[in-house]
Amino acid sequence: MQNNSIFEKIINKQIPANIIHQDNKITAFKDINPQAPIHILIVPNFFIASLNDINQENKDIVSHMFYTAVNIAKQKNISQEGYRIIFNCNKNGGQEINYLHMHLLGGIKMNKLF
Ligand code: AMP
Repeated sequence: MQNNSIFEKIINKQIPANIIHQDNKITAFKDINPQAPIHILIVPNFFIASLNDINQENKDIVSHMFYTAVNIAKQKNISQEGYRIIFNCNKNGGQEINYLHMHLLGGIKMNKLF
C-alpha cells in the first residue's frame, strides 16, 4: 500500500491535480486513472488512514463526504441515471493508498458486484 503523502500533497496543492471542490473539511479531485467517465475522489483535509480509523471525534467527516458527493453528482448531471460510491478498506477491500478516500463513479452503466 502506498503512503498517504500523495493525497496530502494534492490537498496542499504541492502537486498538480484537477480539484473540483475544496472547503475547510474536504477536497474532491479527479482520479488520475479513471474507471468511469466520472471518477472523483473525495478525501478529508486531515489524515485518516482508512474506514477502520473512523471514531467518535472524526465520524462527522463521513457525512460531509457523502453530502458533497451527492452535490457533485448533481452538478455533473449523473444523479438521475445513477452513480456508485465506494470506499475500499485495506488489503481485501483493494485499498492502495493509505488515506481515507471515497470514490464517486458515474457516467456509464456499471457491472453489479454481487
Ligand atoms: P484505492 O485503490 O481505493 O486506494 O484508490 C486509490 C485511487 O487513487 C486510485 O483510483 C488511483 O487512480 C488514484 N490516484 C493515485 N494517485 C493519484 C493522483 N496523483 N491523483 C489522482 N488520483 C490518484
